[in-house]
Amino acid sequence: MDNVVDRLIRYAKIYTESDYHAPADAAPSTRCQFDLAHLLVEELRGLGVDNARCDETCYVYATIPATPGCEHLPAIGLIAHMDTTPDMTGKDVKPQVLHYDGGDLVLNREQNIVMEAAKFPELQKFVGQDLVCTDGTTLLGADDKAGVAIILQAVEELLAEGTPHGKLCLGFTPDEEIGRGTDHFDVAGFGADFAYTLDGGDITDYEYETFNAAKSVVTINGFSIHPGTSKDKMKNAILIAQEFNGLLPPLETPAHTEGYQGFFHLQEMHGVAEKAVMEYIVRDHSMERFLQRKAALDQAAEQIDRRYGPGTAVVDTQDQYYNMYEVLKDHMEIVALAEAAMKAAGIAHPTHSPIRGGTDGCMLTYKGLLCPNLPSGGHNAHGRFEFAPVESLKTGVRTVKALVSPALVETVILKKEEN
Ligand SMILES: [Zn+2]
Repeated sequence: MDNVVDRLIRYAKIYTESDYHAPADAAPSTRCQFDLAHLLVEELRGLGVDNARCDETCYVYATIPATPGCEHLPAIGLIAHMDTTPDMTGKDVKPQVLHYDGGDLVLNREQNIVMEAAKFPELQKFVGQDLVCTDGTTLLGADDKAGVAIILQAVEELLAEGTPHGKLCLGFTPDEEIGRGTDHFDVAGFGADFAYTLDGGDITDYEYETFNAAKSVVTINGFSIHPGTSKDKMKNAILIAQEFNGLLPPLETPAHTEGYQGFFHLQEMHGVAEKAVMEYIVRDHSMERFLQRKAALDQAAEQIDRRYGPGTAVVDTQDQYYNMYEVLKDHMEIVALAEAAMKAAGIAHPTHSPIRGGTDGCMLTYKGLLCPNLPSGGHNAHGRFEFAPVESLKTGVRTVKALVSPALVETVILKKEEN
């Protein structure tokens, strides 16, 4: 029998970074993601899941039929993403398991890379535990290989132990980190009645609310002319771009917001006097405030045009995803099953908090596959201080096994359907 820690370490060492700048029709964005996809297919087949397959866009699918007598149970989907974020290198990841006794945690003596307790107070929760960490030079990729490892480990244990369960549908996706994780997801072929992503944070915290999200590309059309002879003629697009940004509320940025507070995030800016381009992302849990934020960008453009002439500021806003709660609120038994499974796995007080982002699950929910998020136990994602406590990974495995247990599914899901 394998174990979840060895699995995470094995998957973490495989380079699967996705690429924001890959052409829109590149699916997956990077070929290296196939390395993990093919390994997962091989491992699933090794566990006896013969139908495991990887399609040409790097989605891995597998189904495990219901055990005899459990055919009446709903088919439950389990989903995790294989890619790691381009925001921090995920090449040559050297995972290590460190015992944490409290205080600062030295990741790399040679390069003096230390995870300081003062900067990462959540470390205190894990004093006395073993943590899967990096050597401080890369991310770990527990986001989301912890999710992948937990699902594979739970499947191995269920099959080895002969535990009864309904039909299970497994999906491992590429390109989640660049927002393309469900572009080619085959919802109909997947075959689940509802699903859970395993992606993200503390093992006690599940999620069913996401941001509403849009991306706005703001183009400032200036006018360039030799600076020596430009009086009353030049319109410096770079300076006007700064004015545009100045029209947005300065404290409504990621650095100043938390919880249910939305924001504008200027994530890229480049330009010369003739032309400048700013890329914003707009986020809010509330649909009403989300619409107001998008309108605020248009109003800022109107202001700029009044100052510098029509067509100076051009805003192109595209919605990216919506808050899954808008759909899930009518199917809260699916959320209740997640919480019940976490309790059955030994988490006394599961909590839920709004995701300050999106998940594959929120895209899938809008494609018709309801899909809240279960935790996978990773911390400090997207950076060199990413880690996953061993105990959390094991709890994750127990959570998945509880989630598919006939008794729990019957009580929480089917009871409701009988009413
Ligand atoms: Zn993730």
